Amino acid sequence: MAEQDLVKILESIAGYLEIEKRSGVNCFMRGKNVQKRIDLLKKIAEDVNKCKKCSLYETRKKVVFGEGNPYAKIIFLGEAPGEEEDREGKPFVGKAGKLLTQIIQALGLRRGEVYITNVLKCHPPDNRSPYSEEINACFDYLKREIEIINPRVICALGKFANLALSRKEIPLIQQHGREYLYEGIKVIPTFHPAYLLRNPQEKKSAWQDLKKVIEIVKRKSDLKSTTLIGV
Ligand code: SF4
Repeated sequence: MAEQDLVKILESIAGYLEIEKRSGVNCFMRGKNVQKRIDLLKKIAEDVNKCKKCSLYETRKKVVFGEGNPYAKIIFLGEAPGEEEDREGKPFVGKAGKLLTQIIQALGLRRGEVYITNVLKCHPPDNRSPYSEEINACFDYLKREIEIINPRVICALGKFANLALSRKEIPLIQQHGREYLYEGIKVIPTFHPAYLLRNPQEKKSAWQDLKKVIEIVKRKSDLKSTTLIGV
């Protein structure tokens, strides 16, 4: 196993343990179960790496799969990798990524405690918006990621993340902060960090949306029946 992969796995496990500790959990899941979830995510990443389901495979430099805590309570979902992500093969590493990291920290979390991914796993040339056929072609990977992680809440960042989950063409300016369900999981749509960099006046409303995300995580009634078991 490459050192980089090992570090990623250890960071994921550390993030998972930290968030469970904060939730008051004092026992740990068997290592076998943690590994199983990581293996399932790795399998999707392998499928994505060889994917040619839409024409974006022809222009991508690197596939950008999701990363973070496989037991995250929150998934932050963007629309597609940008140029920097395409070069590095990691989600949200550019300017917008820095803002997302700051947002996560402002919410009292570390980046490693959440899971970050995009609707599209390949960069659309010239940073153009995703086409609906690309969203449809790529959606199965996202669906599988969400099923495995099974978060308490998904924060849909921007128009296309929201469209992919809601399948409704409602302008984000109207829908941001309004909770709905995707496959039984709560979704809070808000503005994409790249949009917030261009429109800083919207940061205040985005913060109100993001506070709802944290409220869902903290709400006792939303606690899933835990599957944690003592070693
Ligand atoms: S964007 Fe998605 S569907 Fe298109 S080639 Fe990349 S991984 Fe495959």
